[in-house]
Amino acid sequence: MGQGEGGDQVSALRPSNLPKLAVCPCYESNPVAGPAAERGTLLDSAFRAELLGLEERLIIANKLTADEIAAVAWAVSMVRAMSGRERVLAREDDCRVKMLGLSGTADAVVPSRLTHFDLKTGMRRNYREQMAAYALGFMESQFADEWTAHLLFCDQREVESFKFTYDEAKAIVGEVIEAFYDLNKAPNPCEYCGWCAKTESCTARRAIVAEALPVADPGFDFEAVAADPDQLGRFLAACAVVEDFRERAKQIATDRIKAGGAVTGWKLVTRKGSEFVDCETVGRHIGEMGFGPVLAAYGNLSATKFRDLWSQRMPGEKPFPDESVKHAAPSTYLKQSKPKAKP
Ligand code: SF4
Repeated sequence: MGQGEGGDQVSALRPSNLPKLAVCPCYESNPVAGPAAERGTLLDSAFRAELLGLEERLIIANKLTADEIAAVAWAVSMVRAMSGRERVLAREDDCRVKMLGLSGTADAVVPSRLTHFDLKTGMRRNYREQMAAYALGFMESQFADEWTAHLLFCDQREVESFKFTYDEAKAIVGEVIEAFYDLNKAPNPCEYCGWCAKTESCTARRAIVAEALPVADPGFDFEAVAADPDQLGRFLAACAVVEDFRERAKQIATDRIKAGGAVTGWKLVTRKGSEFVDCETVGRHIGEMGFGPVLAAYGNLSATKFRDLWSQRMPGEKPFPDESVKHAAPSTYLKQSKPKAKP
């Protein structure tokens, strides 16, 4: 997770930021941690406390939902299964590494297997550069010339592994550091803009908005935009940035009106809350109503939830019925291709 990381020279340059800096060398992390980052830090502490068997793990577990407790338990079981009988080190002091002037902290390391583990929460993203940095640090401290990093995506129950040689890891990290210090570096709008400290002031994003907003002028020819693949792609990219600013503007306007201020042409409206029956009440009547119709009304359960319920509620010797997992039909959606950092 990389808590408490710090570059020796520039705070933005730390292992956990490397995947973002690899896409935009001007990225700067926002000092205010959002709810997703706070959740990540909490699950990270729970993971470390479980691995170390600390008493505080019970206090931390009280702050987690049942799903989160199951997610952390899955990650701990993966570390145990993948480490065999080897000693797993999870104290921060044992997991701290230095590399090319940077420093960071992995979540767990098994030196005898030349491997480390890092817990990840939320959406699956790219962490290759961060893993290369930790691998490089461990290779230096353990005098190893290759290293394996395992990412544990606990919300998805998925493991992603990277094997690096010393030279590969050094090249990956070195390239990001070089781009960071490049005096001619330019911002590269990307999926990380929403987390960047410069999200509202970034010149590249402002330029995109400035390009998109004139679409409202009478000369705007949507048919021409729709007919030209280049124009259509640029228009969609510009709309994505405008949409991002719109969400921020909505939040600012809502807060302002709630605090008694005004925003020209806008007001807050209150919707009636939807009606519902809680699951305990449904449970009291389910015998008379029939399990089948009630369960059909509830709908399908995600395979992850069913697996968790199975492991919690069914005897250990009864294997999970994999054949009961069904796959929904694939869906299609439009996704912006990964922007490449400008040379
Ligand atoms: S807001 Fe600007 S500097 Fe920050 S990541 Fe996006 S493009 Fe880069």
